[in-house]
Amino acid sequence: MIITMSVQATKEDIERVRQKIEELGYGTKLFPGEKKTVIHVIGVTDREKIVKAVESLNGVENLIPILSPYKLASREFHPEDTIVSINGKRIGDKMIAVIAGPCAVESETMMIELACILKESGAQFLRGGAYKPRSSPYSFQGLGEKGLEILARAREKTGLYIVTEVLSEIDVPLVYKYADILQIGARNMQNFPLLKTVGRFNKPVLLKRGMSATIEEWLMAAEYILSEGNQNVILCERGIRTFETYTRNTLDISAVPVVKHFSHLPIIIDPSHSSGDWRYVNALARAGIAAGADGIIVEVHPDPANALSDGKQSLKLEVFKELMEEIKKIASAIGRTL
Ligand code: PEP
Ligand code: MN
Repeated sequence: MIITMSVQATKEDIERVRQKIEELGYGTKLFPGEKKTVIHVIGVTDREKIVKAVESLNGVENLIPILSPYKLASREFHPEDTIVSINGKRIGDKMIAVIAGPCAVESETMMIELACILKESGAQFLRGGAYKPRSSPYSFQGLGEKGLEILARAREKTGLYIVTEVLSEIDVPLVYKYADILQIGARNMQNFPLLKTVGRFNKPVLLKRGMSATIEEWLMAAEYILSEGNQNVILCERGIRTFETYTRNTLDISAVPVVKHFSHLPIIIDPSHSSGDWRYVNALARAGIAAGADGIIVEVHPDPANALSDGKQSLKLEVFKELMEEIKKIASAIGRTL
């Protein structure tokens, strides 16, 4: 259950409500907003008892029973769309967010040259892994902190904001220092200690859907981050495992409207890891935007044939530029901008 306190509620009013609920044996979590404070009551078994105890207390505006297993991620809790702002770039608003870059940070020269072209073509965010979750321990694992430093220099040069993956709990403070958005990869979607850790930091989190996760499991993963206090979660549909073998994964386009229905969180799509083949990337990106996604994260490489990872699905620069033109048209057709 969620209790919203009125704009006029004082600190004492909020504290009184919190105490009353704890006396009934339930946990509470406070979310002080810009205007109103929201109290999340945890583990509710007897709704009536709570309503009776607090409805007439000073400052209580609304008691909302939330039936879905995820609470803070649900539309019932937060009817308006959440907009995640990264230094003024708003994901979940009218703008279509384009996050582009190589799978992995490979070298400084490559990253800076590429970032300049991506910026020129209209991308607002730069992607690139410094810590790579590879299927084989013998494959390139990423440049680590050196990769993060390169990303920071590319940001300095271009003004593009950085999206990069954090693979483990112990790396969170370091990645936090460099990144503008912390990416949680598909393989870590249910790494609950990692989710809780990024939930305690105040930078936006891009939460990829696990390759075999249901939408409900994915929203529950988002709930782990939200319930620690970090309200800036962006979901990313990156394809799920199906019986189909002609693509690396199957992009679940239906996840876009379904997530929009059940949750207020922004959602973007990843046409690269879903298709696994550059030839299908632009079509999937167009479909995702047309379906209502708030953006895309796409792999681009100046020389895909020699990329250290995911070359097969990486777009050459000309193809990325074509994609940007296509997205512009779709965005304007559905009342959005790039
Ligand atoms: C990535 O974005 O580089 C990545 C590894 O993606 P995913 O976690 O979706 O496989
Ligand atoms: Mn990749």
